Amino acid sequence: MRALLLATILLLPVAAMTPPAPTTASRPEPLRLGQMQVWMLTDGRIPLAASLLKGLDAAEARRMLGGKDTADTPVNAFLVRMPGRTVLVDTGMGKDPEEDSGHLMAQLAAAGVAPSDVDLILITHDHFDHIGGLLKADGTRAFPKAVLRVARREHAFWTEDPSRLPERLRDRAPKLKALFAVYEQAGAFRPFEDGEELAPGLRAIPAHGHTGGHTVYAFTSEGRDLWCIGDLIHFGAVQFERPGVGVAFDVDGDRAVKVRQDLFREAARRKVVLAGAHLPKVIRIEAKGEGYEAVPVP
Ligand SMILES: [Zn+2]
Repeated sequence: MRALLLATILLLPVAAMTPPAPTTASRPEPLRLGQMQVWMLTDGRIPLAASLLKGLDAAEARRMLGGKDTADTPVNAFLVRMPGRTVLVDTGMGKDPEEDSGHLMAQLAAAGVAPSDVDLILITHDHFDHIGGLLKADGTRAFPKAVLRVARREHAFWTEDPSRLPERLRDRAPKLKALFAVYEQAGAFRPFEDGEELAPGLRAIPAHGHTGGHTVYAFTSEGRDLWCIGDLIHFGAVQFERPGVGVAFDVDGDRAVKVRQDLFREAARRKVVLAGAHLPKVIRIEAKGEGYEAVPVP
């Protein structure tokens, strides 16, 4: 349960995050969808134990993970450039002294984007590995010109009534409030309501279950759809084939499974490109057997 331990050190000081000078020599090519350009920015990696899987026996879990007891799992943010907008979805975990982490700024620079170029940050949910890059080591905003948006339902879930949270997570409320206050005091924090259109070609799909207000962000351009699905899936080697398998850190396991099944069904039908925070690649999915198969997107 190392990932859960990590959650307790959510707001440790972040090591110096001065981005390296952008280089054009090794600039990664974006995925182009309509007028959008999409980069996966891998902030780091975390080991996820097979024992986190719910609804799957241990031997089967191990087999599906290639004989291993843990899955070496990426932590991704996504950069989406669309006409008139540079959007960052999630911000990774920041620099964690125990983990391979804190590469977001270098990845952003490699894509040719400065932190001050980002004008919109969308947070899928408030877990440590999605909000850890919001502040610099000195406690100021890492993205000084960006508006930070998160579902009001998610923000409220963590901050308004901590007694609803599992006991081990109750100390998170003041830390999260302090973190978001840095953006709020700059007039740059704008929670949104369910169903609110965030920008032309960009909407939020409520996908509660993993957390109280977990959100999928749906981008569309010229008939191409991209969904940044956050933690709709953690174990790519297991939960495409078996979307009914949950993970221990879903706050509402049944709902998380239902949301995954509903959104996977729609994504397969509409050939939506899926960008997962813990998947190694950007993919599409196709129905196969009782579940799905991940198909690389060229
Ligand atoms: Zn996550």
